[in-house]
Amino acid sequence: MTRPPASADAPVDAPVIEFRQVGLTYPGPPPVAAFQPCDLRVGRGEFVTVVGPSGSGKSTFLNIAGLLDSPTTGTYLLDGIDTGVLKDGDRTALRGRRIGFVFQSFHLLAHRSALENVSLAMVYNGFRRRDRTARAREALERVGLGPRAGALPTRLSGGERQRVAIARALVARPSLLLCDEPTGNLDSANAGTVLGLLEELHTDGMTILVITHDAEVAARGGRTVSIRDGHLHEQVAA
Ligand code: ADP
Repeated sequence: MTRPPASADAPVDAPVIEFRQVGLTYPGPPPVAAFQPCDLRVGRGEFVTVVGPSGSGKSTFLNIAGLLDSPTTGTYLLDGIDTGVLKDGDRTALRGRRIGFVFQSFHLLAHRSALENVSLAMVYNGFRRRDRTARAREALERVGLGPRAGALPTRLSGGERQRVAIARALVARPSLLLCDEPTGNLDSANAGTVLGLLEELHTDGMTILVITHDAEVAARGGRTVSIRDGHLHEQVAA
């Protein structure tokens, strides 16, 4: 299997994520300081898990890291690129090229096959249809679903649906895979397959950040950070 490369023009030595005193306060009223200014570096190839109770700021953190929300203070460098100076269109393009998202509830189109779900993710990246299909097949093979490429999501197990969603996240060959409770809707057998796949992708060099409530999932990361009341802390292994 070939390693999904980082985007061609990414500076190879820059961390994938670098926060310099990045924080976010929702304006309100009243203002909510949801994510307190912090420094964070996630290097290429790291597998980081993010834990914290409900309301602690995990989604706010994911939205910032995923370029869905802009911090209200500090500087966020993604692959060495200062995201704070980008115009909206450039931010969207950067997000589409460099970040793959995996959500708890899969977000697959119900009436499209696994192959179409994956290939449609590339429509806005300027690939030709033939190339999209070839890359979608390759991504589905990577997650072990090559033989099920033609299946509708309703014909797939929860674990298989999540693997389709992972294939969709990988197909543009991003630098960073951002996963929000990726096993939250799965039974333990399916959760095990999905976690095993994330571990394989990590072994192949992908940078992965997983938000989770589940201590077992958190323990699978090479490094864990916790968020409490908007404060991010490195968690030191016991
Ligand atoms: P988590 O993902 O850990 O459950 P969130 O990041 O969703 O936490 O929320 C962190 C804090 O920010 C909470 O107090 C929440 O109520 C608040 N919050 C989240 N989104 C908004 C918003 N759009 N406007 C104002 N406050 C918000």
